[in-house]
Amino acid sequence: MTYKNFTLDIDADGAALVTWDMPGKSMNVFTLEVMDEIEAILAAVVTDEKVKGVVFASGKSAFSGGADLTMIEGMFSMLEEAKAADPTAAAQKLFDAAGRMSGLWRKIETCGKPWVAAINGTCMGGATELAMSCHARVASNAKSVKIALPEVKVGIFPGAGGTQRLPRLINTQDALQIMTTGSDLTASRAKALGLVNEVVDPDKLIEAAKTLIKNGVDPVAPWDKKGFKAPGGTIWSPQGVQLFSAANAILRRETHMNYPGAEAIVKCVYEGLQLPFDLALKVELRYFTQILNNVSARSMVRSLFVSMQELGKGARRPAGVPATTFSKIGVVGAGFMGASIAYVTARAGIPVVLIDRDQTAADKGKAHSEELIKGAIAKGKSTKEEGEKLLSLITATSDYSQIADADLVIEAVFEDRTVKKAVIEQVEAVLPESSIFASNTSTLPITGLAENSKRPDQFIGVHFFSPVEKMLLVEVILGEKTGDKALAAALDYVAAIRKTPIVVNDTRGFYVNRCVFRYINEAYDMLIEGVPAVMIENIAKAAGMPVGPLSLNDEVAVDLSQKIMKASIADLGEASVKPEHMTLIDKMVNDLDRRGRKNGRGFYDYPAKPAKKSLWPGLKDFYPQKKAEEVDVKTIKDRLLATIALEAARTMEEGVVTDPREADVGSILGFGFAPYTGGTLSYIDGMGVKAFVALCEKLAASYGDHFKPTLLLLDMAAKGESFYSRFNPKAVKAAA
Ligand code: NAD
Repeated sequence: MTYKNFTLDIDADGAALVTWDMPGKSMNVFTLEVMDEIEAILAAVVTDEKVKGVVFASGKSAFSGGADLTMIEGMFSMLEEAKAADPTAAAQKLFDAAGRMSGLWRKIETCGKPWVAAINGTCMGGATELAMSCHARVASNAKSVKIALPEVKVGIFPGAGGTQRLPRLINTQDALQIMTTGSDLTASRAKALGLVNEVVDPDKLIEAAKTLIKNGVDPVAPWDKKGFKAPGGTIWSPQGVQLFSAANAILRRETHMNYPGAEAIVKCVYEGLQLPFDLALKVELRYFTQILNNVSARSMVRSLFVSMQELGKGARRPAGVPATTFSKIGVVGAGFMGASIAYVTARAGIPVVLIDRDQTAADKGKAHSEELIKGAIAKGKSTKEEGEKLLSLITATSDYSQIADADLVIEAVFEDRTVKKAVIEQVEAVLPESSIFASNTSTLPITGLAENSKRPDQFIGVHFFSPVEKMLLVEVILGEKTGDKALAAALDYVAAIRKTPIVVNDTRGFYVNRCVFRYINEAYDMLIEGVPAVMIENIAKAAGMPVGPLSLNDEVAVDLSQKIMKASIADLGEASVKPEHMTLIDKMVNDLDRRGRKNGRGFYDYPAKPAKKSLWPGLKDFYPQKKAEEVDVKTIKDRLLATIALEAARTMEEGVVTDPREADVGSILGFGFAPYTGGTLSYIDGMGVKAFVALCEKLAASYGDHFKPTLLLLDMAAKGESFYSRFNPKAVKAAA
């Protein structure tokens, strides 16, 4: 029999080599078709007397990326439709569909013949679960081997036996840690833990797996034998009791119980280890079905996997524009941002010319890359040769003629219209007509800057976030005259440096900063009401934000807030900024010189390391303080998240953001908006627009008109719409 995704070769010793190599895909993933074929292969090898055992290998450079999460997303949709007709039958259908993989892996495990997984590269999620249901695992010692159960990162958990086999193979504490963090294991770490039996050179992998079969791998899993004991001991041993008390405390500290997937892992392990294996699998599957029914899981899978992948692959790229290949990129302005932009560009293998006003300033910019490389080598993340190669790609200069053949130039000079105008003119004097000019401005409208350009259709905003090396998001800003060629080139560039783009129409603050300043402004309101700063910060984190709003304000600089507020007043009038906010920030900056982390004093104090930052006690004297019991924690959470989500809804209403996927992904990657919600608009959709409107009305009554729901939201609530139904990105594409 032939298979579409697999080949099957049986050697003279009876070892059946199953090689997984999906046609037309760069990565093997589990689809329904793949599972059907594995089932057919299983039946074939079990009945074939010649076969003594099976080696399960990959024909690609990676082993497998795990389940195709679009399949899981499909399951969510199926559930929604089925629920409407018969909720009980829908739950059963979901239980059966979700259990397909778990059941199949169990069949492999109990088929009577030994299976050995040969792990040659990345092995994720469902693939690690499959490998664990094999009777032994051999991994190559190649650097590319990463073994993980990363499901928790997208809101779900290893529901195909992962939570049961891992703590039966390795000690319980490590198993919990691996699954609740979703972290990668190298081959040697996996071996040390007992997850992998052997680690060998890449070219010896298949041979080693076959040798294991020849030498007689036991075809019965240890947990299917009488008297099996988990390596970490029983739940009710003194060490077990200690472990689970600590595990629950850590889970609470790390997740604030916002992530049902992480919680389910601890429950599955705790309950499962007390049960016979098949029953334990059933318990796991019940929890898995419950999680798939959870709105948080659905939103996380959509935003953190499906949408992120779609945007990364150019969902917003205009069709028909040929792909841009970058043979040289110019970066003008070698300061804080420009130096980092040059680094990430060279890291992607693209030659960069880094220009500043004089050679010394340009060299200083390149020195930033040297520092980063030194750090990476010291941590073992890079080699001397890789570092030298990267540095050789960066030319630091003050000579504009060096960008005469650049395909793209990104300016990151001072945030000053006059300086930018001069730079645009200087660059365009040498730049070929076909090349693209991009500005990294964070506040100046692209349409206005493009007025200085001879080719406004080839002028675009490419807005990076700091620290550029770490932040995965880039906002691509369209000016009024920006054309498709510039958009395509900007998106090709963002893809080349392996970041995720969102495409935003020109507006003050674009998308991310508009939302961020709402978050910070709400904290100003709370301070003024007398909510203790420590409560604002801690409750923000409990609501799922990575940093509190005051801490964030210190990072972006308090005087930058002051500058932005003054600019708003100048451009939009006095009413655009609350006078109490201006008074607070003027006092911080003008009277107290508390500008944020950069001068070691802001809402926090920043003592010399190793001491940690702490909230500045003087803040307490600004406003009469409320007692902790007078502050309603739920209301603080609601205010902080709702004010941001409402701003995101406004950007959709104004047509600044046009695709809900971009609002969601942009909010998570740009400022860490409570990831368990799936992002700003999924937060609204998740509770339902009607409920969100009711929440906003309630908040507006007590905390001000800025919470009043917008016309769009009222309309959507009346019609029973969601952002993903009204602005369905896939329907738009299909109609186009
Ligand atoms: P910076 O002051 O650190 O760097 C600006 C650099 O531009 C300096 O090295 C300066 O010498 C150089 N420069 C000035 N005039 C020049 C000219 N005529 N020719 C060549 N070089 C010139 O500023 P930064 O923080 O890197 O900001 C740069 C741009 O990036 C601004 O538009 C800013 O709004 C934007 N931005 C900043 C951040 C941030 O977090 N700092 C984030 C996103 C975007």
